[in-house]
Amino acid sequence: MTVDVTRPDVVTDVPKQLFIGGAWTDATGGRTFAVDDPATGDVLCEIADAAPADGRRALKAAVAVQEEWAATAPRARSEILRRAYEIILARTDELALLMTLEMGKPLKEARGEVAYAAEFFRWFSEEAVRIDGGFSTTPDGANRILVMRRPVGPCLLITPWNFPLAMGTRKIGPAVAAGCTMVLKPAPQTPLSTLALAGILTEAGLPPGVLNVVTTTDAGAVVEPLLRGGEVRKLSFTGSTQVGRILLAQCADTVVRTSMELGGNAPFIVFDDADLDVAVDGAMTAKMRNMGEACTAANRMFVHRTVADAFAARFAERMAALTVGPGTDPGSDVGPLIDAAGRGKVEELVEDALRRDAKVVTGGTAPDGPGYFYPPTVLTDVSRDAALMRTEIFGPVAAITTFEDEDEVVRAANDTEWGLVGYLFTRDVDRALRISERLEVGMVGLNTGLVSNPAAPFGGVKQSGLGREGGRVGIEEFLEYKYVAIPVRNRT
Ligand code: NAP
Repeated sequence: MTVDVTRPDVVTDVPKQLFIGGAWTDATGGRTFAVDDPATGDVLCEIADAAPADGRRALKAAVAVQEEWAATAPRARSEILRRAYEIILARTDELALLMTLEMGKPLKEARGEVAYAAEFFRWFSEEAVRIDGGFSTTPDGANRILVMRRPVGPCLLITPWNFPLAMGTRKIGPAVAAGCTMVLKPAPQTPLSTLALAGILTEAGLPPGVLNVVTTTDAGAVVEPLLRGGEVRKLSFTGSTQVGRILLAQCADTVVRTSMELGGNAPFIVFDDADLDVAVDGAMTAKMRNMGEACTAANRMFVHRTVADAFAARFAERMAALTVGPGTDPGSDVGPLIDAAGRGKVEELVEDALRRDAKVVTGGTAPDGPGYFYPPTVLTDVSRDAALMRTEIFGPVAAITTFEDEDEVVRAANDTEWGLVGYLFTRDVDRALRISERLEVGMVGLNTGLVSNPAAPFGGVKQSGLGREGGRVGIEEFLEYKYVAIPVRNRT
């Protein structure tokens, strides 16, 4: 379906204020900040720029309704999420265009994210009515143990800019299902999708105060007092490891429970027995989804020496055939990067690799003109010391290096402080299971470049994070155990 990209109403229709206690409200002093279109650098609109006092107001609203919200029937919470799921799907085109305008991804990918984001609401609408507890007898027979699950309490949710809708629904869904209230702070580059979502949840019947949205350019000053204040009982953060560490330290003082979905440095391993067509398909997905701006992006490609040339040639041919252009252009496969800093980092990483004798097979130079575009790029002979092997590239640059044997590649793959996801291409079942077990990651893509799925436990080990989102465990992150000890006396 063609979307009328000139339609101004998708941006004008979104409220530009803070959402606190069910009301749209200006920031203190009426401060605003600009949201840009990364395809042009032009300003899309101005939105409210919260001060610390606004953050406190939002948390107060969440705290005020926590007890009442926790007492609602699970079916009522479930049906709110189900209705929101349906509204999101019905508005796919508008939401996709909004996301493309603020974030840059091509419309076809934005539509995919709308479906993915909605799916978290459907999944957690089903989980809301399956929260259970337990009942057992102590070994000595004297007591009964009643175990109940309770919402953890008011939550602070912080999201990044790369998946503006799905990172919100992946947190709001389980929080609503569990009976928690929340304050959500989206990334300042992409607040519009979150504000649209707040409107949708209100339409779906979410009571005032359960979800509060605070947009700000002063995240540190707004968030820190909330984390240290003692009323936030849970932080769910998705973003960089660097910021994650700062927030973990702030949570320590008042022992705030945390879920941390942090950065990655995914190894993408192709063995000599792999089906190369499958491996190239997998590489296109693992590298190019979201222009490479994904925590799950293939960052280091280890290809067995005997198939490296064939893999690189086929992969580079597919990469070179992609069309780079504004995400709103229906023919675009690759949109702009998020901003000048994001593109500058990619350029520096490529220059560093070239100084260390990497070879460019395709791409490698940013075009002139407006917007933050960077071409799909394939580098071979990349030194394992190159900076792009040790940091998230966050752009459409594939760095290929070769390996000789299994032990060597597992050692190299694990030689990083991150452990979010690894990709593995082989037709040998024993090897597939052996290496899946040995990789120090939270997720493995076995002969696939895509692991994200609302029904699966998404998350990492090492410095890629703590906890999981989605799957059966996703709601657990927002629930506490409470145990009631019940002595049962013998009849006298
Ligand atoms: P980021 O710089 O860490 O920011 C993430 C969020 O944290 C933003 O809303 C940001 O707002 C906020 N923030 C930054 N400093 C803060 C502070 N001191 N106190 C409170 N909030 C603060 O990450 P990003 O550049 O937006 O996103 C890219 C990163 O996210 C990558 O590392 C990527 O791997 C990771 N990511 C991980 C997952 C996962 O599931 N594991 C998924 C997607 C993305 P400001 O921008 O205003 O500072």
